[in-house]
Amino acid sequence: MREIYMDHSATTPVDRKVFEAMIPYCTDEYGNPSSIHAKGRAAKKALEKAREQVAALINADSSEVFFTSGGTEANNQAIISYMVNNAHRGKHLITSAIEHHAVLDTCEYLRKNGFDLTVLPVNSLGVVEPEVLQRAIKPETTLVSIMHANNEIGTIQPIAKLAEVAHQAGAAFHTDAIQTTGRIPIDVKAMGIDLLSASSHKIYGPKGIGCLFIKKGIKIGRLMHGGAQENKMRAGTENVPGIVGFGQAAELAQNRMADTAAYLNKLGQKLRQGILDKIPHTIATGDLENRVPGSVSVCFEYVEGESILLMLDSYGIMASSGSACTSGSLDPSHVLLAIGLPPEIAHGSLRLTLGKNNTEEEIDYVLEVLPRIISNLRKMSPLYRNGGSG
Ligand SMILES: *Cc1c(COP(=O)(O)O)cnc(C)c1O
Repeated sequence: MREIYMDHSATTPVDRKVFEAMIPYCTDEYGNPSSIHAKGRAAKKALEKAREQVAALINADSSEVFFTSGGTEANNQAIISYMVNNAHRGKHLITSAIEHHAVLDTCEYLRKNGFDLTVLPVNSLGVVEPEVLQRAIKPETTLVSIMHANNEIGTIQPIAKLAEVAHQAGAAFHTDAIQTTGRIPIDVKAMGIDLLSASSHKIYGPKGIGCLFIKKGIKIGRLMHGGAQENKMRAGTENVPGIVGFGQAAELAQNRMADTAAYLNKLGQKLRQGILDKIPHTIATGDLENRVPGSVSVCFEYVEGESILLMLDSYGIMASSGSACTSGSLDPSHVLLAIGLPPEIAHGSLRLTLGKNNTEEEIDYVLEVLPRIISNLRKMSPLYRNGGSG
């Protein structure tokens, strides 16, 4: 059967060149970067090269990049360590309603442990409006954490403006840029970012490795305690092969960013327009202008996302839905509810996120298969027969 992978916001395949760069550090170059002998020095050198490659991608200094076990850990460190180490200045933090659970649940953890949390609403496109942030700021606000782009609906936030509002109030600004690093340009200096989380496996690198950018001068402690690795900011022997892979992935992403973005924008537009043209009662979600290249998110009325995924999977098409049905209870996506969709529409969500290996022919195949799937599922829906067929 064909395999058509359109779930690049969940993860991406490891690029062949990335894998090749990692091989020596999985085999002969097994040194511990903390060792002073030759094997240790070779590993250390590889680590520092990767740090420069990742720093270049976001216009940071390499001394501002700290490797972590992934995006989730970077988000946890940014939020928990920053709040705990600056609690004497204030215990209020602000985030948005559409964050990834790695941010939302971390903020919630702090709230349960004596911190004060404000969760900002978004508008119907999924944008956090700077005026809304402005109104939520208190004298004791120390951190604002707003994601760069949303993983479900693709919307890109006005980060520079949001960071400016935070800074005017004396708060630091963190962004979960896991969906955007390597996909669209990021300049931490120009955008006024103090803390930024990135992850390797969303940009054709290996899983289990990411980084936290910490602007020089920002006071933040560590989350993992132990050895003196990562300039005492993240204890634990470094994942050298993973870091080397992340570095290589970052360099490749930087070199081909413009071409890939243009290609994915074209494919994404064709796919979205095709879906809207061929399938009635369909709503495109998110900001159609300001969005991650190749991210297509829609809701089909009178069908259920989980059923669409199963049907697509039977054709070899791999996608995802905001409506994840586990343990029988259907929780519609918090993101789709936050942009104001009623639960019954949010239940019919489908996310197709394209990557550099997808082809126009694959788009045509999806546009041939998907309308049939939706039409068949709707035939089984009593809601559609009663209300939607008109
Ligand atoms: C994937 C993702 C994460 C989690 O990153 P991991 O490296 O998988 O831990 C966090 N935030 C967003 C927006 C993501 O897309």
